[in-house]
Amino acid sequence: MDFSFTEKEEAFRTELRTWLENNLPDGWLEGNRELPEELNEYSIFLRNWQRKLYEGGWAAIAWPEKYGGRDATLIEEIIYQQEMVRLKAPPLVNYVGIHMVAPTLMQIGTEDQKEAYIQKILTGEEVWCQGYSEPNAGSDLTAIQTAAVKDGDKWIINGQKVWTSFGHLADRCFLLARTSRGEKKHKGITVFLLDMKQPGVETRPIIQMDGKHDFNEVYLTDAVAYDSDIVGELDEGWRVMIALLMHERTGIGAQVFTLEQQFQDLAAMAKELHEDGSPLIKNPFVRKTMVDLYTKSKGSLLNYYRNLTKTLKSGQPGAEGSMDKLMVSELTQELFSQSVSIQGHQGMLWKEDAVAGKSYWQENYLYSFGMTIGGGTSEVQRNTIAERILGLPKDIGR
Ligand SMILES: Cc1cc2nc3c(=O)[nH]c(=O)nc-3n(C[C@H](O)[C@H](O)[C@H](O)COP(=O)(O)OP(=O)(O)OC[C@H]3O[C@@H](n4cnc5c(N)ncnc54)[C@H](O)[C@@H]3O)c2cc1C
Repeated sequence: MDFSFTEKEEAFRTELRTWLENNLPDGWLEGNRELPEELNEYSIFLRNWQRKLYEGGWAAIAWPEKYGGRDATLIEEIIYQQEMVRLKAPPLVNYVGIHMVAPTLMQIGTEDQKEAYIQKILTGEEVWCQGYSEPNAGSDLTAIQTAAVKDGDKWIINGQKVWTSFGHLADRCFLLARTSRGEKKHKGITVFLLDMKQPGVETRPIIQMDGKHDFNEVYLTDAVAYDSDIVGELDEGWRVMIALLMHERTGIGAQVFTLEQQFQDLAAMAKELHEDGSPLIKNPFVRKTMVDLYTKSKGSLLNYYRNLTKTLKSGQPGAEGSMDKLMVSELTQELFSQSVSIQGHQGMLWKEDAVAGKSYWQENYLYSFGMTIGGGTSEVQRNTIAERILGLPKDIGR
């Protein structure tokens, strides 16, 4: 493994860093990073940011040039992640579209689908969500009940989805529906590209324990789709779904760079906050905690690089993505738990009362529980690691 960057790669970093410094929203570099709370303003703010990234050629660097990307190498993607995180750039409102839907359409979609959707995903004109999970189908997606029934030239779709991130902002949904019932449960599932703005689609907010609204329940009552909205083959959506999930897991694993930055922020907070007149960082318990977290976050990063080296050699992301996802999500939870804990009684304060960063630490601690569930729970990742990396026997009951 060679961790040094070439001159060309460092030039790429400088180009991106300069662009970000010149184009981040007003006040962002100075630390004013509050996103609007009102939904419409929030949506406009993030869509504008995505448009700016697109115009600068920074919206989807990993995509092929013919679709508006930069054909970036994996190393350039790492540099991209590092710089976005270092300057704490605003999140991507069309994360699902850019990192999951469009790459899957490039792989499996028809020419008409590519033509209709890919450019609009890139510009942020159409935001996407992912409609997989249902009240009784999460880890086991073969249990989905949402059904699509053919009626003339239409598909009529009924059912309920849950935990649909960005569903309230989305124009379209990458939706799993059952189209027939065969002997094997994973057969008879089809992926549809669903118009979220039609009358048969109702989105209800789920408010998280931190008071925020990121995901939703989605009710489908005689919603309509057409043959041209099917991705891949009818009844063969399983393969399409797995392709999308691979993109999702690899993306979550890359949050190891965010974790690194969060560790740096934690160290800064421990130097700034005082207890009994002494900075927290001088407290032996805090020092031990910091060393422990540093060791683990460095370990995660090196593991990520090791997996990446394997991907670079084979050209394919493998089951190791589950390892990255597991380590990053569990460690993020530990980091934020410790960040609140070392604040002592001050750790219980919220919003304007909070002493460090307007409850940034508290909010992220609450949010971190979702990270070990979304994109596949830790238990499911452990199963994948056991079976596909360690070669252990299959999970009992499957
Ligand atoms: C922040 C966040 C964002 C999300 N965004 C989306 C989205 O945009 N679109 C979408 O479709 N879904 C989304 N989800 C849903 C997510 O994918 C599911 O919650 C997840 O797959 C788990 O499914 P479940 O909640 O039905 O739990 P279940 O599958 O019912 O699991 C319950 C418990 O049983 C364990 N378990 C289940 N099967 C096994 C097994 N074989 N071996 C060992 N343990 C097992 C699980 O690990 C878990 O602890 C999101 C979830 C979160 C938290």
